[in-house]
Amino acid sequence: MPLRPEMKPRNPWPAAYARFVLALVALLLIGWGTGQWLLVLLLAATGVLVWDFVNLRRLEHWLRLTRKLDPPQSAGLWGEIFDGLHRMRRRARDRDKQRRSLVRNYRDSIRAMPDATVVLRSDFRIDWCNQAARQMLGLQWPRDEGQRISNIFRHPEFVAFLARYSREARSLSLPSPVDGRLWLEVRLIPYAKKRHLLLARDTTALRRLETMRSDFVANVSHELRTPLTVVYGVTETLEDEISDYPELTRSVQLLREQAERMKHLVDDLLLLSRLETGDGPRAGDWVDVPAMLDGVVEEARLLSGDRHHQIDLDATPGLSLLGNERELRSAFANLVFNAVHYTPEGGRIHVRWFADSAGGYFEVADTGIGIAAQHIDRLTERFYRVDNGRSKSRGGTGLGLAIVKHVLMRHGAQLKIDSKPGEGSRFTCRFPTRSLRQPLKPPAAAGDEVVNR
Ligand code: ADP
Repeated sequence: MPLRPEMKPRNPWPAAYARFVLALVALLLIGWGTGQWLLVLLLAATGVLVWDFVNLRRLEHWLRLTRKLDPPQSAGLWGEIFDGLHRMRRRARDRDKQRRSLVRNYRDSIRAMPDATVVLRSDFRIDWCNQAARQMLGLQWPRDEGQRISNIFRHPEFVAFLARYSREARSLSLPSPVDGRLWLEVRLIPYAKKRHLLLARDTTALRRLETMRSDFVANVSHELRTPLTVVYGVTETLEDEISDYPELTRSVQLLREQAERMKHLVDDLLLLSRLETGDGPRAGDWVDVPAMLDGVVEEARLLSGDRHHQIDLDATPGLSLLGNERELRSAFANLVFNAVHYTPEGGRIHVRWFADSAGGYFEVADTGIGIAAQHIDRLTERFYRVDNGRSKSRGGTGLGLAIVKHVLMRHGAQLKIDSKPGEGSRFTCRFPTRSLRQPLKPPAAAGDEVVNR
């Protein structure tokens, strides 16, 4: 009779010893009674051997041939052994059942997930995918099992994403291969040993909202531009006309200043929305950065005026950058002009452009007012200013660093900000090596030569 799981198996040995002693006594008595010691012993030993042999045979047969849970019935120690094996088999079967139901539950929950989920091997071959992956990514199951995901989902950005995945990429946004109107946010997550989980989320609604927001800002800015230009133009003319009325001059001057500020704001908003929506020319030309920086630094010196900053430029001659010249100029100028704005009179501003094995660097270091650590992470948010009054009084729009961030993003670059209040700041833009063209120089003259202007 099989034992129930909660019952602790009893120790069979006391009973086994008792049976052994009883059998021994019985043998002694029979041997003494019959006088046939040898025969009695032989018969007893043969009996034990046959009993063990029969039980061993039944056990082997049960283990090898039957999948039945119930073991053969037996008595004594063999009965206990069969019961023990039965318990083990039943436990193993229960565990197996539990495991299978756990796996089934997990699979069912992943299958029901609205996000596309694809299990990938180390070489990005497909192991498994859920229903949403078939709908969003156009995978076919089981036909695509074992295929490389990039053979099926061939979007160039996705293929490049996989190629640079191990180094930097974590997620990207792109249209669904099944329906171009669907936008997906694709993420790749490493797990277990060299496996990856590819998740794709439908972000169409979010993107539509985002587009609506930036369209709205772009439209309002566009509509404001013309009237502002008129107001600005009129104030300029008025200023000339009313030079004989000193009481009005100040008011018109104020009007012109405010109109100019609003014009800057509108221009920055328009530029930012163009950068956000990805309109306009993409990075595509070799930009002569040293020549561009000459111009930017020249303007910075004019901006500094009688505040007499010492502005130095160290740029590796001939080190060009693949990108959009207008966007890059706007970003670099923003950083250099910020250094002028936020560095007190006579301070030093050092502008550098150079490359090493990890990439190209545009760096602006100043000895200005610096920025407290808690602000640094938020500086590139639109309209984020450390000191509202100071920024506005010098005509700042609060959009400069947001523009810098977007331009850098479009050029695959990163911004790093190091700063200490009272000591100064260093803004470093790092561009990928693939976007650089090193100067072609004979080895002796090459190297990290930098021209100081
Ligand atoms: P703003 O038009 O206000 O300068 P930005 O987006 O260019 O807007 O800069 C955001 C904020 O970052 C500024 O308001 C200023 O507080 C801080 N900031 C930017 N550059 C510097 C710098 N070189 N030194 C100190 N603070 C800076």
